[in-house]
Amino acid sequence: MLQPAELSLEEMGELAAIIPAADPEVRLTYRAIPEFGATPRRSIIPVCAPTLGGNELKYVQQAIETNWISSAGRFIRDFEARFAEACGVEYGIACANGTVAMHLTMATLGLEPGDEVIIPTFTMIATANAVTYCGAKPVLVDMEPAYWQMDINQVEAKITPRTKAIVPVHIYGHPTDMDPLMALAEKHGLLVIEDAAEAHGAEYKGRRTGGLGHAAGFSFYGNKIITTGEGGMVTTNDRDLAQLAWNLRDHAFSHERHFWHKFVGFNYRMTNLQAAIGLAQVEQLDGFVAARRRNALEYNRRLQDIPGVRTPSEAPWAKNVYWMYGILVDEQVYGMNRDALRRVLADHGIETRTFFIPMHAQPVYWQQFKGERYPVAEDLCKRGFYLPSASSLGIDEIEYITDVIRQAGK
Ligand SMILES: *Cc1c(COP(=O)(O)O)cnc(C)c1O
Repeated sequence: MLQPAELSLEEMGELAAIIPAADPEVRLTYRAIPEFGATPRRSIIPVCAPTLGGNELKYVQQAIETNWISSAGRFIRDFEARFAEACGVEYGIACANGTVAMHLTMATLGLEPGDEVIIPTFTMIATANAVTYCGAKPVLVDMEPAYWQMDINQVEAKITPRTKAIVPVHIYGHPTDMDPLMALAEKHGLLVIEDAAEAHGAEYKGRRTGGLGHAAGFSFYGNKIITTGEGGMVTTNDRDLAQLAWNLRDHAFSHERHFWHKFVGFNYRMTNLQAAIGLAQVEQLDGFVAARRRNALEYNRRLQDIPGVRTPSEAPWAKNVYWMYGILVDEQVYGMNRDALRRVLADHGIETRTFFIPMHAQPVYWQQFKGERYPVAEDLCKRGFYLPSASSLGIDEIEYITDVIRQAGK
């Protein structure tokens, strides 16, 4: 049977230099929060929750009433078209989740064993795993400290004759600096696949993510900016790519003959029920993005003068959609470290989440990236966490959260 990757005591020692020893125990206290809302309520503020106030129920009901609940039906086509339009691209290929959206993109583009794919080390594990599913090898670069995105200046040194693709991940909803990346990719004949799982509606120089490279993958998991419960989408302007992705998504059934297959395809289909929710969600995308940007401004305004708290930045060329509103804590200046502050917030019923653990610090990839160090990603991992970030978060809640942070640091 499959065995987990375990680190030896010595390796655990090496790991301790890279990331904090263990997750701090943060127990949420459910308590009355009279400070916000007209009526005191027993509640917590979750780090993220879906906002389902549009046509979700109506469309799901239509799907059920018409008996189309599996992976054919009008909502799938409508959702694909509407989401592609929202990204400013020609084609959207809906699939089961964000991870398989990335894998489907890579498989369709022909990534195979022996290929190398350059990714940022600071990301969610699905980015690296999608590469691994192809039998290809993820190759890591560090982040730039200003916007916490892949450091484009470090990419060229990692290109080898085996490099096939680069995967920028628009971390926490801020786009990667794409122009220099695309120039580099063109110079070396490489594919660029955006991992846009966290960046629905984000913009780079006025252009939406999802249409900035050769293809992109999105996630519609429950905590993403728009959700279908579970779901994902490939976006592209390349017609041939879209058609092959549609085909591979559905077992690569042949058009010539039934039960006749020329590829090893996948069942990565989305259901009409999920797409019904997705269509209702994408109708609200611009509103969600506006709410998140308003909330981020409010957080910034209330946090920026607290010494030792670093708020997220937005590049002059970027429209950040703040999938997660993350901050960094400087222990020396603030007076307590990240984990202690998270505990205080939890005691006040405020849920938070630590930043990603970089790929080079993952037990499962430990041997592969042995000895590699990426100081910016490691620093983000040690000091960063995100605050409640849902589109439905209210200004009164932000006031309450930021007051707790201000008091705790005194
Ligand atoms: C959420 C996420 C994914 C995976 O999406 P799922 O729908 O959970 O499979 C991939 N990449 C990044 C950067 C993500 O945040």
